[in-house]
Amino acid sequence: MKLKAQKEIFTKSLENEYPVEEVNSFFFMLTEAFFKINRLNLALNPELEIDKSQFEKLESALARLTNHEPIQHIIGETEFFGLIFKVDRNVLVPRPETEELIEWILEDFSELESGRILDIGTGSGCIAIALAKNLPEAQISAIDISEKALEIAKINAEINQAKINFIQEDILKTKALNGNWDIIVSNPPYVRELEKKEMHRNVLEYDPPTALYVKDENPLIFYEKITKLAKTALNPDGKIYFEINQYLAEETEKMMQKYGFNTELRKDLFGNFRMLRGEIN
Ligand code: GLN
Repeated sequence: MKLKAQKEIFTKSLENEYPVEEVNSFFFMLTEAFFKINRLNLALNPELEIDKSQFEKLESALARLTNHEPIQHIIGETEFFGLIFKVDRNVLVPRPETEELIEWILEDFSELESGRILDIGTGSGCIAIALAKNLPEAQISAIDISEKALEIAKINAEINQAKINFIQEDILKTKALNGNWDIIVSNPPYVRELEKKEMHRNVLEYDPPTALYVKDENPLIFYEKITKLAKTALNPDGKIYFEINQYLAEETEKMMQKYGFNTELRKDLFGNFRMLRGEIN
């Protein structure tokens, strides 16, 4: 069978589910990941044939895409900050907004020699590992409530040869963080139930709910807990970096100020207030 024909099947089967450019991009992400064939290879060799087992692989991926399973789950990995991360249903698929949080930290701490960094709610480990690769002298710990997420995070640390101290813990139950941190960073759950109607099926049905949702009545529960813990656990020049809910930027900022932090908000690539930095006055 010709690969070109399979591409047409993809376009037809998915045209009501995704924009055509996205379908094209899914198709080539799959052919690249499965067979190392990219868009250019097909353009240069339009008569390219695939065998039965390749055909079946693409058919099975197509069925999963029809069910709105994230392309990253189908491929089994994704790229984040130039690194490869294994992902499945147990971890949130790393988002491009979160890369911008890492960039902010690296701008502020490019000189960090032997600092201590704590990532709270590490999930796939993407923040901790990206920081470890860019701040090789830092000592990095990462907490998550989910044992299954930590299993993935450990594999990702291994794939990327990053040394991270992983800890299984429910931060809402933590009494105190053992101190002296230079950076505390977190992308905690921040999506309110009332925001679910804005979300796509690939997120709603496949990302782990524990990583995403908070109650409408108390959406800052993680931010407030982490801010309180950080007050006594940060070094004098230490900083907190949060990924935040764009609709709650002002409230999150005010909450941090109430605990005596100087704050700065930043927008993400989509123009939404997505990042918040706090330092002790
Ligand atoms: N940005 C993620 C989303 O839109 C949410 C991440 C989080 O809750 N920490 O799905």
